[in-house]
Amino acid sequence: AIPLVVAINTSLAARNGMLIRDRIAMEQARDLDTIVFDKTGTLTKGEQGVVDVETVDPVEETEALALAAAVEGDSEHMIAQAIREAAHDRDVTVPSATGFEALKGRGVRATVDGEAVHVGGPNLLSELETDVPSELTAFAEDAGDDAQTVIYLLREGTPIAAFALADVVRDESYQVVDALHELGIEVAMLTGDSEDVAQAVADDLGIDTVFAEVLPEDKDTKVTELQEQGHLVAMVGDGVNDAPALTRADIGIAIGSGTDVAVQSADIILVQNNPMDVVRLVTLSKASYRKMQ
Ligand code: ADP
Ligand code: MG
Repeated sequence: AIPLVVAINTSLAARNGMLIRDRIAMEQARDLDTIVFDKTGTLTKGEQGVVDVETVDPVEETEALALAAAVEGDSEHMIAQAIREAAHDRDVTVPSATGFEALKGRGVRATVDGEAVHVGGPNLLSELETDVPSELTAFAEDAGDDAQTVIYLLREGTPIAAFALADVVRDESYQVVDALHELGIEVAMLTGDSEDVAQAVADDLGIDTVFAEVLPEDKDTKVTELQEQGHLVAMVGDGVNDAPALTRADIGIAIGSGTDVAVQSADIILVQNNPMDVVRLVTLSKASYRKMQ
């Protein structure tokens, strides 16, 4: 039989928009001392838009957008959508591309007019070991200071343009970090985005620890590192890339609007897509389980 307190607790949780897939996780939540948040789509809205373009002479902005949109044609990533939208907004004619390949946590590649074209972030650049031209480096520094994500366009392995994308921090995220600190919980952020952007968002929110430029396959390792330091760790995420970290954490929390893979890897699902529910979850766990002792 299900103990009475647990039964009450799960229905209370359900009323608060939390689906408990693992009751032990719900009980453990009262002892959490560290919560790791995914950045994009969890702490931020994840609705990116291209706000600036820089090219290397003699490449034109429209040409750069056209090439990038062609290569992003097959990707479902938010960044791909933003680039396709920017090309569409400027009435750019997008060439056709073949041989699409998604490079998880790095970017995409395809062939356009017989040439290899890549679009991606800093993880892609380090993997291809490319030197970035000075005009693009300066552009990236400015964008990074403004917490904008920088995406590069490479033709035959050479960077020829960069795009700055802006995302918006969710209003609730400020409250979440403050409330968790009041509960004595440390807040960390885990992202595949650049150090610059991650640090800017973390400073804005008052986040304690930042893990940036982390490849999807390494996200769970960061959770393990925290656990090895003796922390009881929850991970909050929404993406396919977050699934291994959700599984690895002592408590995996999926944001309800997230991907199926994230939801299936989580112990607790926050149905309402509101990060403040993470705070409610901890408070509810503390209130419920204190009564049992
Ligand atoms: P996050 O960890 O922030 O949720 P991802 O793991 O999905 O992000 O992606 C990490 C980084 O890889 C992005 O910030 C971007 O630099 C690059 N990237 C991933 N997919 C794409 C894409 N389709 N187009 C361009 N860049 C991409
Ligand atoms: Mg995400």
